[in-house]
Amino acid sequence: MTTFTGKKILVVGGSRGIGAAIVRRFAADGGTVAFTFAGSERAAEALAAETGARAIRSDAADRDAVIGVVGSQGPLDVLVVNAGTLVIGNPLEHDAAAIDRMIDINIRAPYHAAIEAARRMPEGGRIIVIGSVNGDRMPFAGGAAYAMTKSALQGMARGLARDFGERRITVNVIQPGPTATDMNPEDGPMSELMHSFMALKRHGRPEEIAGLAAYLAGPEAAFTTGALHTIDGGFGA
Ligand code: NDP
Repeated sequence: MTTFTGKKILVVGGSRGIGAAIVRRFAADGGTVAFTFAGSERAAEALAAETGARAIRSDAADRDAVIGVVGSQGPLDVLVVNAGTLVIGNPLEHDAAAIDRMIDINIRAPYHAAIEAARRMPEGGRIIVIGSVNGDRMPFAGGAAYAMTKSALQGMARGLARDFGERRITVNVIQPGPTATDMNPEDGPMSELMHSFMALKRHGRPEEIAGLAAYLAGPEAAFTTGALHTIDGGFGA
């Protein structure tokens, strides 16, 4: 028996990066894990083969698809919504459609997924969304829309924690700082600037974020809800 034996877990956006690390962690800890992906079919298939998790193609930008996949996998003991995109740059030059798509993936998907999961989630279930330290702090230009999407998750978690508290369902936000993934490679052009803001001058590892997800989904975190859990190497310190 390990921590998540007998638990049904869905990770929305789990084919790469932080999401894949979360899939690996829950699968290693005995959970019955499914994850969604949109574009990275080969990575998703490889992860499914490696972990025994089930890979499901489902675009988080499509509200009906989000609701459908969460409903079809339920009742879930644990929902993690990790899918996210990053559009940064001069807001006067942004493609408005790309910003709206980011809003769909980063805000609408977590909200609708959480609501759909909560419909049938058993007592004591866990809802975890992956926000960002940029929900608290946006220390350089060009990130307003991304930061907006991550700040929105803070209000959502606070409110849903109260909506579902009577059923002992907890709702929490993990707020990573710079983490080494395709979205934010440690050798990328922004790394030196990001490290200059940090107490620990390195990127986080996806496994470090997955460890926090496992804690929040596990029995020791039953009293933790409506809260923001920043794991950022001191980016926001
Ligand atoms: P990656 O770009 O490395 O991976 C993103 C994952 O989300 C992939 O598995 C991707 O699947 C999935 N995804 C993206 N869009 C969709 C979609 N429309 N439908 C379904 N799945 C989708 O990102 P990270 O691992 O770095 O980021 C994960 C989360 O962590 C995001 O919410 C991000 O905002 C947040 N974050 C990341 C930080 C970092 O420094 N890396 C810092 C703070 C927060 P596929 O490729 O199959 O489409």
